[in-house]
Amino acid sequence: MFNLILFGPPGSGKGTQSENIIAAYGLQHLSTGNLLRTEITNQTTLGLEAKRLMDQGQLVPDQVVIGMVGNFIDAHPEAKGFLFDGFPRTTAQCVALDALLKEKASEINIVLALEVSEEELVKRLLGRGATSGRSDDINEDIIRARIKEYHDKTTAVATYYAQFNKVVHVKGEGTIESIYADLKKEIDERI
Ligand code: AMP
Repeated sequence: MFNLILFGPPGSGKGTQSENIIAAYGLQHLSTGNLLRTEITNQTTLGLEAKRLMDQGQLVPDQVVIGMVGNFIDAHPEAKGFLFDGFPRTTAQCVALDALLKEKASEINIVLALEVSEEELVKRLLGRGATSGRSDDINEDIIRARIKEYHDKTTAVATYYAQFNKVVHVKGEGTIESIYADLKKEIDERI
């Protein structure tokens, strides 16, 4: 298996670039944000509790997302590899993911970190909120809270994988095509 984490703040282009990467490499896309939004649409107990936190730009508890990811990996035994998008977001999630992959005799091969300035992120997210219907993309205060949450907790994820020399930083500003070309180059060197 080839497992990749696409890492970066909200609005850094993870969703868009994930689509390009899974199409090219046949990886299974695992977005915890999408899984949580499906729970909300289905009005499950988990979804209702998650929505309260997501609407405030806060993270959903580790055990909840780790459980969802474990179920997703088990449900795709035929996968050539996974592209993790929006997960892991905390050190506890990194440790749990390593353990889940080890059970499958596998590991994370590369962490691609997209880098975008805060002003560009806010601009992109407000633009997305105008058309996507995502309630957490409409309000600038919530957007800034999510970016702060990213810096407070999630940068620990880059630190965690840096100790294994797995992190590659890629500039996330420019055209979608040029950013994808930079990501592809890094993947091709390791796959
Ligand atoms: P995203 O679509 O990745 O931007 O995620 C939207 C929201 O879902 C986040 O702001 C969090 O509230 C929640 N969420 C998604 N993934 C995770 C995760 N790995 N850990 C905790 N909360 C998450």
